Amino acid sequence: MKFGGTSVGSEEAMSRTADIITGYECQRAVVVSAMSGVTNSLITMMSEQDREVPSYLAWLRGKHLDASRTLISRELMPEYLEELDRRLSGLGHLIYLYRQDEGRIMYQDALCSWGERLSSLALSFILRSRGIDSLAVTSEDIGITARGSPGNGGAELAITESNLRRTLVPLLEQGRVPVITGYYGCDDKGRPLTFGRGGSDYLAAVVGYAVNADEVEIWTDVDGFMSADPRLVRAARTITEMDYGEAAELAYFGAKVLHPRTIEPAKRKGVAVMVKNTFNPQGAGTRIHGLSRGSRDMLRSVALKTGLTIVKVYSSELVYQPEMVARILASISSNGVTIYAISTSLSTLAVVVPSDSLDEVCERLKGFRDQLEAIKVKGGAALICAVGDGMLESYGVSAKIFAAVAEVGANVELISEGASDIALNFMVGEVKAADVIRRLHELYIGA
Ligand code: ADP
Ligand code: ASP
Ligand code: MG
Repeated sequence: MKFGGTSVGSEEAMSRTADIITGYECQRAVVVSAMSGVTNSLITMMSEQDREVPSYLAWLRGKHLDASRTLISRELMPEYLEELDRRLSGLGHLIYLYRQDEGRIMYQDALCSWGERLSSLALSFILRSRGIDSLAVTSEDIGITARGSPGNGGAELAITESNLRRTLVPLLEQGRVPVITGYYGCDDKGRPLTFGRGGSDYLAAVVGYAVNADEVEIWTDVDGFMSADPRLVRAARTITEMDYGEAAELAYFGAKVLHPRTIEPAKRKGVAVMVKNTFNPQGAGTRIHGLSRGSRDMLRSVALKTGLTIVKVYSSELVYQPEMVARILASISSNGVTIYAISTSLSTLAVVVPSDSLDEVCERLKGFRDQLEAIKVKGGAALICAVGDGMLESYGVSAKIFAAVAEVGANVELISEGASDIALNFMVGEVKAADVIRRLHELYIGA
């Protein structure tokens, strides 16, 4: 059971979360995110060299106490406070190390992981106060192992599985309820490595994989996986059942409700993923599993990913030099830069990358200076992912979709179609992207 930032973001939310956990009697492991706002504050802290540490730590302390003071029993409070202060001073020490000039990158992920260390502690004491035999465990304690670049780790599934069999499964078998830090694992040197923003969903799926869970539950602040981001489309509705593939495409291309990699471990072992609302636990939510054939709806859900840039490289008759295309792509995507779409013509290769990686990408392309005629860059782009059944098999689906795009005055900048049976992806300017989403939803999903 994974609880996101808003589900542990206040006293009321913590209490609801504890109610949901205590409502079950089966073996269960809990994964938590940092309280909402805390990871952002840690990231800001890193950029503000002059920010006073004691006042920041006091703010964090107050925030966690406000959310737990009335929910932790009098008997347990001294023990909680002692551990809370120990963790806060650990953070203070880390900020001190970070501010020393060397090794900044090394401490970045460790610093980012602190929110989860604080929230898991609070929730575990709240559960204990309700008579549940709970304990707070960190990713280090149980051996969630990871590899990858800072801020972009992935779990080592086989190693994690064998570690968790040894460390976590016995706790579950004893009927204990561990509250695990989300968001990060440990690299081969034992240092924290985060799974990217929103990474606690993924960590929950990794735990579900490792312990052969019947189900992974993602408890959040909306009624499940919806036909669009409800913040963008008021008429968005919950999709009660989804196939792994649909959810994975949408999450990868911007549906923030799930971390992009959440489906991967779950699908491997056929563990169902439920998305449920902490603030409306009676709601049906969404069940994501292996759904052989979907609903036959033309459009099921639309997602939007902003902050992208289209990079076009020109070289005459590029198609006749496949090794060069391969080398360019390999060079761009090394060091963890994600390529969200690729399109080719006789003499052009267009790739879509996150705008914040652009400097790095341009630097890499310098290595091909002698072979390329030109490089053009177009920022402020957004990718729209439209998922439906039979995107490839039914006639006229793309015509309908692009007609809607034209209606709102948006221009299609790049198309990626045919690679997936269920998704049609295309780029438009960021300014018009939300209008496109709303119009598509209105026309083909519901107003
Ligand atoms: P948590 O803190 O619980 O992990 P997030 O903020 O990461 O929650 O994810 C939940 C949010 O995802 C929702 O509040 C919603 O605005 C957004 N969202 C984006 N796309 C979708 C979608 N297709 N269905 C549901 N929520 C979505
Ligand atoms: N706390 C982390 C974040 O804000 C991870 C998560 O919430 O899943 O990105
Ligand atoms: Mg999230």
